[in-house]
Amino acid sequence: MERNVAPSAPVVAAWGMGIDSTAMIIEWVARGRPLSIVLTADTGTEREETYAFLPIFQQWMDAHGIEHHVVRYTPRRFKHWPPYFTLLENCLTNATLPSISFGRHSCSQKWKIQPQDRWVADWEPAQTCWKRGGKVVKLIGYDASPADSRRYAHREGHVCDRFDYRYPLREWGWDRARCAKRIRAAGLPVPIKSACWLCAAQKVEELSSLPRWCLRLIVLVEARAAPRLHSIEGLWRSSTSTRPGSMTADIRDQGLLDRREVEVIIGGAPIDLVDFQQAAAAIPVDARPAMREWIELFNAGVSRLAA
Ligand code: SF4
Repeated sequence: MERNVAPSAPVVAAWGMGIDSTAMIIEWVARGRPLSIVLTADTGTEREETYAFLPIFQQWMDAHGIEHHVVRYTPRRFKHWPPYFTLLENCLTNATLPSISFGRHSCSQKWKIQPQDRWVADWEPAQTCWKRGGKVVKLIGYDASPADSRRYAHREGHVCDRFDYRYPLREWGWDRARCAKRIRAAGLPVPIKSACWLCAAQKVEELSSLPRWCLRLIVLVEARAAPRLHSIEGLWRSSTSTRPGSMTADIRDQGLLDRREVEVIIGGAPIDLVDFQQAAAAIPVDARPAMREWIELFNAGVSRLAA
């Protein structure tokens, strides 16, 4: 059952660029419910289809007079590292994998939740609300399906001094199919499920549909992290009856990349990356090349290898 929103409470919707949160915003607005702002946290590692949908829904929000912002985690101190700005660059810098591969969720906390909360903390309507002892209403797009019910179970009963978390899709009893129908009814294309393209939660068929440049970077991420992986096999953590724990193994087994190309990446790229990091460490931080510059060179190797 849908609860009312206190008239003075600022209302923030978390838009993850996927099906659920898109439908939630469309229906919330259609029901005439108050909405102050929409925030999207960009990890820099979303799939191409998700980034293609971003301007489409931004246009829809503009047409409906909804203020919206894309927020990002911005590391400030790089010590001796080349500056990094995305989840992928973070993993390559630290020779590790997203925390979800280790069974934790701090990647989502760091790259999605924290940037949104920081933005709201600097937002004047939220500060005024908190000074009066109120709470900012935060709309989360968990649907009523069994998968999202498990995610919701972790948060159920979670009480916060600053936010009143609301799950409108669950209040309406909407599952993902209902969400897709609502998006189509609004005249919009239905986006794909949003997630980082190296996320452990992706399925085998989702990995298979990734473009070549993502597959190459997945091989690189696992190869770079390999010396530090003692308790897990790779991005998928551990093998199951339907897939290996390493995405590289699946890429190799399915022939998604040429075997020789996989070996070239594993054998050479991590060493080249460490050399780059060591050279960068000697350069003052304001003149130091960023991690993305090395990645651009690595990606350029796609065409050289393919030629
Ligand atoms: S989509 Fe996956 S990898 Fe990306 S932040 Fe969320 S849990 Fe981590």
